[in-house]
Amino acid sequence: MPPLGDRREAAGGISPSGGKGGQKITIMETAYINGKFLPKSEISISPDDRGFLFADGIYEVVRWYEGSFYDMDGHMSRLKRSMKEVRIEWPDADSFPSIAMELIARNNLHNLPSLLYLQVTRGSAKRTHAFPSPSVDPTVYAFARSFHPETDLIENGIGTILRKDIRWDRCDIKSVSLLPNILSFQEARDSGCYECIFVRDGLITECACSNVFFVIDGILYTHPESNHVLSGITRKNTLRLARNEGIPVSETAVPEKRLAEASEAFITNTSFEIAPVVTIDNNKVGKGVPGPVTKLLREKFLAEIPAFKG
Ligand code: PLP
Repeated sequence: MPPLGDRREAAGGISPSGGKGGQKITIMETAYINGKFLPKSEISISPDDRGFLFADGIYEVVRWYEGSFYDMDGHMSRLKRSMKEVRIEWPDADSFPSIAMELIARNNLHNLPSLLYLQVTRGSAKRTHAFPSPSVDPTVYAFARSFHPETDLIENGIGTILRKDIRWDRCDIKSVSLLPNILSFQEARDSGCYECIFVRDGLITECACSNVFFVIDGILYTHPESNHVLSGITRKNTLRLARNEGIPVSETAVPEKRLAEASEAFITNTSFEIAPVVTIDNNKVGKGVPGPVTKLLREKFLAEIPAFKG
């Protein structure tokens, strides 16, 4: 029996609570490692991998919408930028879209909302801070997994906490080194919330795993692209949709002291898409319900996706 993490319910009408006749049908998860597609249970990574020892790697997460990847070009550009910034070389990076497609096919995910995860580390070498010399091949790992969008939270909004941004000064790199994000996110969860909004030097930057937007006096604000935020693919597309709708947009950081003026707030990321924020540290944002700008942008976001057009 493979470990639980390597199995999932088969696609095609088998409910998580049990298949036909109460039987749970499971299929092996196939993942990608360094040029090969293998059952996940057969994949092993060296204990000397620099991803394991130093979190010396970068990653991407791409959404599969029952028939297409969301803005794969945007994800590819960010992947290449992250690798360039940390000086990790993966000469075959352009093969990622076909690897991703193969993972969807091999895991029978074509008709399920799914996420593709890719991680590229500086490879495996004797532990020392300096880059391996001579250089070694990167470790490239990818998997695809179905997921259940949190529709209730997306419709009704999420609660958030506000905390000091304790991360480093290169948040623009999609690094696997996520300990500050994890600790902050867990603090949100422990408080019964779903995100942690970060504040750095009195200004709102982003969240533990999403970008954040505010509507103040009819203007849609979000932090500008900089080393203090990740340039979210969903952020970029949300700004485009807002401009198309004629919503005034300002890529300017919102000061913490102006938060009480916000009539609406929402977060954006690959899995939540656009999700309303209804409380910050237990204080209501606006009326404490999803606002009209958030709803309009979410509607426009979904309208662009073939899977939602029907
Ligand atoms: N900011 C952070 C810190 C993130 O981790 C993420 C996504 O994981 C985002 C923003 C949103 O990025 P995207 O819209 O590309 O998912």
